[in-house]
Amino acid sequence: MKYHVWTMGCQMNKAESSRLAGYLASLGLENVKDIKDADILILNTCVVRQNAEDKVNGMLGYLKGIKQAKPEMRIAVTGCFVTDDLSALSKSFPYVNHFFKPGESRSFEEWLLSESVGNLHGNIGMALQSVSSLSVYIPIIQGCNNFCSYCIVPYRRGREQSRTAEDVVTEAQKAAVAGAREIILLGQNVNSYGKDLGNGTDLSGLLALLNQLEGLLRIRFLTNHPRDMSPDLISSIASLDKVCHHFCVPLQAGDDLILKAMHRHYTYQDFRALIRQTRQMIPDIALSTDIIVGFPGESEDQFENTFKAIEELRFDAVHIAAYSTRTQTYASEHYPDDVPYEVKIQRLRRVENLQKGILTEINRQLIGKTLEILVEGKKGSKWYGRTYSDKVVFFTGSQDYSGKLVSILIESASPWSLQGIPATV
Ligand code: SF4
Repeated sequence: MKYHVWTMGCQMNKAESSRLAGYLASLGLENVKDIKDADILILNTCVVRQNAEDKVNGMLGYLKGIKQAKPEMRIAVTGCFVTDDLSALSKSFPYVNHFFKPGESRSFEEWLLSESVGNLHGNIGMALQSVSSLSVYIPIIQGCNNFCSYCIVPYRRGREQSRTAEDVVTEAQKAAVAGAREIILLGQNVNSYGKDLGNGTDLSGLLALLNQLEGLLRIRFLTNHPRDMSPDLISSIASLDKVCHHFCVPLQAGDDLILKAMHRHYTYQDFRALIRQTRQMIPDIALSTDIIVGFPGESEDQFENTFKAIEELRFDAVHIAAYSTRTQTYASEHYPDDVPYEVKIQRLRRVENLQKGILTEINRQLIGKTLEILVEGKKGSKWYGRTYSDKVVFFTGSQDYSGKLVSILIESASPWSLQGIPATV
């Protein structure tokens, strides 16, 4: 029997898909590249923006024809496309055999059991054992309690639900034994980790436990809400040697009225103070951020405030999105989507160009420095890996560097990557 897992969206989805694929492989199913060859097809979906939802609908339309030609194919759909109303989904897409909400692996297991798929044994929680990779995603918290006015995530993934620290450490340990050198802790809001457990566990405590694991070289985490970045957490990042000096802290907008309409619960000055404090405590920290342009009602002046914020704060990466209305959200029900599409795109391009110039300057300052990188693999004749602060570095060298920490002398830089040679050669 053959399977294929089709994935779009965030790292949470990629981690979930890798777990589902690992589970199907452990049941004796064979992975196939072509959807049409699969007996079991899983779609792991994203609807965070309209174009993502359009892509899911396009794929479902395409599958209708495939299923007519191959009625024995079994299709399951998960991810943020799956609403609470499963019967409505089943009515709209009768050729889909099973819908399950993100992270509801029990429902998936039961469905496979009912379909008599493979040699059922173990559970999805154990699937990671069969996956060996240098860098492993580990979800630590599902859902979000923040209800930012534009965001569909809390409606699709539900309220925050943390895994126990014991569970996460066990998974990380298994990953290290299987060869992982880096773990990336995932959640919609990782710095809220543990609040729902009610036993004093928090992200700082979890990082301290993971930092002790043998075999692991690096720990990263994403993504954060600025309001939950505590001084304690910043101290932990500063003091724990395996925790990388890099994190994403989404600003979203640099204008206070827009931030208020977004229900972000901080002002630009609060955010600026957080960045200043972080940089004082960890001078070599690399920070990335997310920005939405063209939020309902965003005037030219308000956009300029966001533009000036990017100019002032000089991030190492800025992920920019043009606002798109999501049904169910507060913004969709209360704010007209009144910034024309062309204006959104112009604003997006302006921020992109600004950030390109900033990154050119930041990366040029690294020329002549020696940076330690964790080598991920080879592209063409060049090895590549990431620095502690998440910058991509390419270098040439005749040894097998895969999975090793290597010191690289940086010789040239572009906005998106660095180039160098091994420092010891
Ligand atoms: S914190 Fe992130 S995931 Fe949660 S509602 Fe806001 S944007 Fe969505």
